[in-house]
Amino acid sequence: MTQTGWGYDSHRFVKGRKLVLGGVGIPFKMGLKGHSDADAALHALIDALLGAAALGDIGTLFPDSDPRFKGADSLRLLADTARRIAPRFRIVHVDVTVLAEVPKLGPYKNRMRAKIGHALNVPIENVSVKAKTNEGMGFVGKKEGIAAVAVATLEKKLRRAR
Ligand code: MG
Repeated sequence: MTQTGWGYDSHRFVKGRKLVLGGVGIPFKMGLKGHSDADAALHALIDALLGAAALGDIGTLFPDSDPRFKGADSLRLLADTARRIAPRFRIVHVDVTVLAEVPKLGPYKNRMRAKIGHALNVPIENVSVKAKTNEGMGFVGKKEGIAAVAVATLEKKLRRAR
């Protein structure tokens, strides 16, 4: 039996922060504002995984009021999410779409897939990362920030009869 989950996140551009998406540092004149590293792609993915497992949401598990998560590396939060899911589910496949007018993300997609696959212990073939612009529309199109959506598919592990 499989279960799917859906996730969304967005962060605003600010000056003076590093841009990190899908666990990869990307050279750009701005970064994203947030309590952690503000990696919108991984935050959307974490919520998709938690949704598929019905384990709550990122704001409950890793609250931005908690000083432990200040500046947190979201790859660590992703790996921690995978550990919470592991007792009951196998991660079959994940698919992330990043919505960014700038910068161009094409050259970084495969590195993001590798980072995500490593954090989740999932083969890179089962990790999809896509990127697109918003055709100049809305907050993404106006270059105010970056959004991301994600889908995760989990398979329920069989429980051994006792
Ligand atoms: Mg976030």
